[in-house]
Amino acid sequence: MLEQLKESVCKDNKALPKNGLVLWTSGNVSAKDPETEYVVIKPSGIHFDDLTPNDMIVVDLAGNVIEGELAPSVDTESHLYVYNHCPEILGITHTHSPYATAFSIAGEPLPIYTTTSAAVFGREIPLSEIAAVGEKAIGAEIVRCYKETKCPAILLRNHGVFTVGKSATNSLKNAVILEETAQSVYYARTLNAALKPLEPSYTSEVYDFYQNNYGQK
Ligand SMILES: [Zn+2]
Repeated sequence: MLEQLKESVCKDNKALPKNGLVLWTSGNVSAKDPETEYVVIKPSGIHFDDLTPNDMIVVDLAGNVIEGELAPSVDTESHLYVYNHCPEILGITHTHSPYATAFSIAGEPLPIYTTTSAAVFGREIPLSEIAAVGEKAIGAEIVRCYKETKCPAILLRNHGVFTVGKSATNSLKNAVILEETAQSVYYARTLNAALKPLEPSYTSEVYDFYQNNYGQK
């Protein structure tokens, strides 16, 4: 079932350590199949090197395991909460990537200083409140921030990063660019503590241009 989706979600999960976004077994990528509305997610506690497409777990939106031998990621309920409340989202990536997480610990939204982050996000990366304990509460806090800002990346206060997208790969790309941005901003601030973010009007212009012109037609 959903063989192609399991293959691509497996590949996207394996891309997490390759892109320096996770250590050990933390972090996960999932996708929702728009037809069946089933969600494909990484199994819990398995090393990324050992993951195969057949290890991916298929669950329904209520969390019932439809296919898969292993237990799904412990973050599955957070992912499902987001899919249940935002039908346009078809992919989610969760990491504790260090530079973006540093901003979430420092308690600061990530301003837009680079044209790349302007192009991809179009606005400051929001910072959530500390979520109450439990996977559903984390999901609720992500949905609240996403609905308020429409930003596809959210810094989860004192925890890490959730990025969303129109596919698992798209959410992964957002996570990669978020971490790259956070790292650049961190270093730039050590060079000049009085940095100013890009003007919001310039950020919007770059965003619109990129959304209409980037990639292959
Ligand atoms: Zn986490």
